[in-house]
Amino acid sequence: MAPRKLSVLKSLLTNVWLVVCVLASGSCLVLALQLLLRAPPLDTSVLKIRLALGVPASFGALAGLYGAVVTVVLAFKNARLRRLRGSVRELQRRADELESLHLAQRARLDELSTLREVATIVNQESDFGIIAEKVLDLIHGLLEPLEVTIFLCEEDKPKMKAFAQHVGGKVVTGRKILTRSIPDFTLSDFESHSIICRVHGQELHAIVPLKVADEVHGVLLLIFSTDARPADVQVAEFNQTRRRVLLQVSHHISLAVKTKHLHTRAVVDGLTRLYSRSHFSAQLQASVELALRTRDTFSLILIDIDHFKKVNDTHGHATGDVILTRVAKRIQSSLRKYDTAYRYGGEELAALLPRTRMKQAATTAERLRSAIEEQKFRGADGKLVRVTVSLGVAQFEPTDDADSLFNRADRRLYRAKELGRNRVVPAAA
Ligand code: GH3
Ligand code: MG
Ligand code: MG
Repeated sequence: MAPRKLSVLKSLLTNVWLVVCVLASGSCLVLALQLLLRAPPLDTSVLKIRLALGVPASFGALAGLYGAVVTVVLAFKNARLRRLRGSVRELQRRADELESLHLAQRARLDELSTLREVATIVNQESDFGIIAEKVLDLIHGLLEPLEVTIFLCEEDKPKMKAFAQHVGGKVVTGRKILTRSIPDFTLSDFESHSIICRVHGQELHAIVPLKVADEVHGVLLLIFSTDARPADVQVAEFNQTRRRVLLQVSHHISLAVKTKHLHTRAVVDGLTRLYSRSHFSAQLQASVELALRTRDTFSLILIDIDHFKKVNDTHGHATGDVILTRVAKRIQSSLRKYDTAYRYGGEELAALLPRTRMKQAATTAERLRSAIEEQKFRGADGKLVRVTVSLGVAQFEPTDDADSLFNRADRRLYRAKELGRNRVVPAAA
């Protein structure tokens, strides 16, 4: 029987028992009084009968009274017990409330400490690769997704590219990223949603835009495992527990991405994607200082496309741009990974070769020359064009500064032009 029904039945029986006790005591008392008081007390045999009936009747009345009192006392005790049980239940409920409040506050503290760490990393680190690695680690520690990936917009390209990913307990970058394609969305989705969250089969996908002043620079994609609950319940739970911190983390990452883009724009040439003239000057100066401090050396190669004016005149300026871009790409790809190419003038390129002496630098320059000579470049009009380059090489000497080294390489480049172009001049000739 249900406890509620049982308690109603119990109180009903108690009340009936109370009424019976009161009636029994009352009737016994009346009978005793009648027997003792009403008849004249002369006849002993009648007195005996009266006593024989009156005494038990009085005891009966007392027992009835006692039963009634006990029942009332018990009823009061039960009521008190019920009140106590109610108070215990209320206390338990309050304790549960406090416990969940405590858990929520601990989670918020974890969130705040993660946010503080993210902000510190973004402020102190200048290398976006390191920022991404550390921040992905922190996001994983806080929210424990199966996977979290930073995708970045590529300049002039509609698609985003995976930049770094936390998966299987570690951060991977570049080609090691297991790119499953980014879930279907368009940047305009973020005009109405600050975060897109959907359940896909066994996974919950959260796509957080990395945007600064309404400009989207990329997205953060988090993949969580799902459970048996309905999709909308899980999405609602995500929004309640993880949305706020993700928006704040993404704000910090967005600022770092924006800084990265500004830095790239400042140091990378827009046409050829090689480093720009200002970065070349800074790097040349830095190389001179490093070489003086470490008593080491490095080499500089200056490269100029031959008769480039004629290429423009014959095939048009658009083809000239395409060829210049392809030559730059070919130069960069023909260098070792620690050598760097720059565009320091119109069709004038340079390469800095750290810890490289003249012999090796001359060999590299010759490799660049023949790579360009061998390649046919397709112009904007679809026609194939051949170009050649002239190169001047100089090795840093302890008596050099940036200008003297540059001028020596430039004189050799000029000499290469004088000697008929499409050649390398590595020494005074
Ligand atoms: P040389 O072999 O003596 O170097 O001959 P050149 O014609 O290459 O040299 P010159 O200095 O006379 O001309 C350089 C040309 O390069 C002129 C200029 O129009 C072209 N040029 C410079 N920057 C760009 C560019 O960004 N795009 C295009 N299409 N042409 C450029
Ligand atoms: Mg030229
Ligand atoms: Mg020139």
